[in-house]
Amino acid sequence: VRINFTTIIQETGYINGYIAVLHDITEQQLTENERREFVANVSHELRTPLTSMRSYIEALEEGACKDSNIAPNFLSVTRNETDRMIRLVNDLLQLSNMDRKDEVLNREIIDFNLFISQIIERFEMSYKEVDFVKDLANDSIFVEIDPDKMTQVFDNIISNAIKYSQKEQKRVEFHVKQNVFFNRMTISIKDNGLGIPKGKVDKIFDRFYRVDKARTRQMGGTGLGLAISKDIVEAHDGKIWATSCEGHGTTIYVTLPCELLEAGEWDAN
Ligand code: ADP
Repeated sequence: VRINFTTIIQETGYINGYIAVLHDITEQQLTENERREFVANVSHELRTPLTSMRSYIEALEEGACKDSNIAPNFLSVTRNETDRMIRLVNDLLQLSNMDRKDEVLNREIIDFNLFISQIIERFEMSYKEVDFVKDLANDSIFVEIDPDKMTQVFDNIISNAIKYSQKEQKRVEFHVKQNVFFNRMTISIKDNGLGIPKGKVDKIFDRFYRVDKARTRQMGGTGLGLAISKDIVEAHDGKIWATSCEGHGTTIYVTLPCELLEAGEWDAN
């Protein structure tokens, strides 16, 4: 909303009053601005790896390819940049499918405790140095979700929790709670990492937003992971949000509707 103020002044100089006109910037205009910004971001994100690849390829052409000390290194940089561009384009395609609601959810009724335990186990195998703390619900919680898409959400949240941390002893805590009254469940994933500056926390779900652009690019991030996660969670009628304390850590919350099933109603297959 844009606000214009006009002061009504009498000939004598007395102020009679003020007129405030509220301009409603239509949704269409906002979407148009968002679209422009998005295209600009995509172009920038693609240009960066392409420019860097071109310099490496030029150097190789100019003779670096004959130097067995530096050629493999230059090739591996170009390879990494190519991989990142492929990730970026795949993420963009997924976002665009979600936007057009083309991406269908293949929902299954799943015991959430079992589902999240399997994901955590996978991370425990790959990150032996991280301390994973599980405070899962005692009873089964049934959710009707697309397991592949929700796995993508939690993979992204957990890898961020590990990635954005410089602590010697990295810790990721999982708390799962069911609110039977509202037929919803909440999972929180808490890390003891870098945290996010105040006022920036909600932005992390925006497309291409990164707290530290250069650093995350180096780590191979596309800046789209949480935007995709948000789309997926919302397509499941869920919500995702974060709280954070800079220097201490971040907590990501996901709530999902859950099913109240009677014993025997669930087929374990
Ligand atoms: P990417 O990790 O590819 O940059 P994401 O969409 O997954 O993209 O995350 C966006 C940004 O949010 C990250 O670049 C990072 O700055 C911030 N962020 C996400 N998760 C965390 C976390 N657990 N701790 C600190 N910062 C985070």
